[in-house]
Amino acid sequence: MLDEQCIFCKIIRGEMPSKKVYEDEHTFAFHDINPIAPVHVLVIPKKHIPNVLAVEPEDERYITAIHRAIKKVVETTGIAEDGFRVITNTNRHGQQTVFHLHYHVIGGRQLTWTM
Ligand code: AMP
Ligand code: ZN
Repeated sequence: MLDEQCIFCKIIRGEMPSKKVYEDEHTFAFHDINPIAPVHVLVIPKKHIPNVLAVEPEDERYITAIHRAIKKVVETTGIAEDGFRVITNTNRHGQQTVFHLHYHVIGGRQLTWTM
């Protein structure tokens, strides 16, 4: 389920510190260490899934739980009404740097759409 070397698996196991925002049976959410906005939270499954390309049918409960967790995170951090963005970087062109599936939840300021 969890990977020995993966930094996000270490965060889930409590072997690496993080600023937790939300946790349930299937998900963990914590503040990004290098935020790009006033609110920048990472929501991850409690299973080592490398990225969206590696999601299997049996992972359905994690993906559903992540969407519920995102709602909790934006309510907790107070950005639900003004709005926010959810991003999942994937592989090289997506500039994925940590290969444990994660959803960036970004808000707290007006975002622009430039890549
Ligand atoms: P990505 O580049 O999309 O793979 O996203 C990885 C994100 O993880 C980056 O935004 C990093 O700032 C963040 N990150 C890396 N290590 C940690 C950590 N130990 N705690 C919190 N966020 C981290
Ligand atoms: Zn992992």
